[in-house]
Amino acid sequence: MRTFWEPEPVVWARTEGCHVWDADGRSYLDLYAGFAVANVGYCHPRVTEAIREQAGVMTHAPSAAPTAVRAELYERLVAIAPPALDRVLLTITGAMANEMAVQLARAVTGRRNVITFSGAYAGRTVGAVRYSGKRSYREAFGVTADAHFVPYPDPYRSPWAGETDPGAAALGLLENALVDPASGVEPPACVLLEPIQGNGGVVVPPAGFLRGVRELCDRTGTVLVFDEIQCGFGRSGLMWACEHEDVVPDLMTVGKGIGGGLALAALLGREELMTTWEPDAVTSTFLANALNAAAACASIDVLRDEGLVERSAQLGAHALARLQSELAKNPAVGDVRGRGLFVGLEIVRDRASRQPDPERGGRAQRELRERGVLVGRGGRHGNVLILSPPLVIEEDVLDGALDTIAEVLR
Ligand code: PLP
Repeated sequence: MRTFWEPEPVVWARTEGCHVWDADGRSYLDLYAGFAVANVGYCHPRVTEAIREQAGVMTHAPSAAPTAVRAELYERLVAIAPPALDRVLLTITGAMANEMAVQLARAVTGRRNVITFSGAYAGRTVGAVRYSGKRSYREAFGVTADAHFVPYPDPYRSPWAGETDPGAAALGLLENALVDPASGVEPPACVLLEPIQGNGGVVVPPAGFLRGVRELCDRTGTVLVFDEIQCGFGRSGLMWACEHEDVVPDLMTVGKGIGGGLALAALLGREELMTTWEPDAVTSTFLANALNAAAACASIDVLRDEGLVERSAQLGAHALARLQSELAKNPAVGDVRGRGLFVGLEIVRDRASRQPDPERGGRAQRELRERGVLVGRGGRHGNVLILSPPLVIEEDVLDGALDTIAEVLR
């Protein structure tokens, strides 16, 4: 072992659709799509063919050189983007896209501060980790936070007692930070927000929250950035999670699934913001090489042509209803929530106390793996099992896996 971080025991040797085979030929059903990447399934024939074809012509062109394949990708991304987000900066990782969003918001507003939310995950570079919620991530890098954190309105783990509506309460704190001259919070360049928190535990904010944040940003000249890196690209049953509330940000970061399995992310934004930068102000050697761009074009085509967004909505509603009814009396499962094929199961000591039980969550994850089903795990306490399968998963395969999950949790 010549690296320090490969904690999973399954040696991945081959992938196809929603299946993984290990080095001994044992198959697994991957219900977390390799960190929510394989939205169109692993090794989709059209993506593989696009990579093969592109590899025979050109794999790399410097990021400063125009190429037809990157131009095609820009068009495809703008075609699926929310209205008016018609300029694109390609990046390699989601962390880099988030850093670019923050830097651009700073350049546009002349302000420095960032407001983000507890439980947020923006990536693990020195920049992005500074606006992520978990302190332990920053400690590993020896850096401190570079953002003001407001509680994310988590309907299951609301920091507010009793009947307080967590959406309204979080908006109240955000308003105070933005408007009150004595709040102690520096006026921010941007609010950075996941419309559904992914690594935070598939937390869906209450209705009206995204709209309220949009209105506060408009009132205070603050750039609104949505991080759709995990919850976007069909995952939530609509192309973008912000569409559930019909709210459009000023800047949006996307990643993971769009590359069809190759490393690609992007910052999308309104023209007047994106053209603030001089050409060449930000760059990197590999801002989507030709190979990754070709794979991304094919994965966007597959998502559209195979109706995978609608599939995510239908199968997701089916999965959620089944799990909610079958786990309704399970004392170890405090909450079953989600949107589309993006579901979180909150594992607790008991339903009354809601005390997170990461050990039990870990045991369930291991037992599922032993039975050939891979699921993710996250949440601010590490106790949320996360289901984010490839959107191509067949209904009977999904049903079989849900049976296994219900059995293991019993
Ligand atoms: N933002 C969100 C919401 C994510 O889920 C992730 C990765 O899990 C990132 C940003 C970081 O993306 P990357 O790992 O590609 O840097």
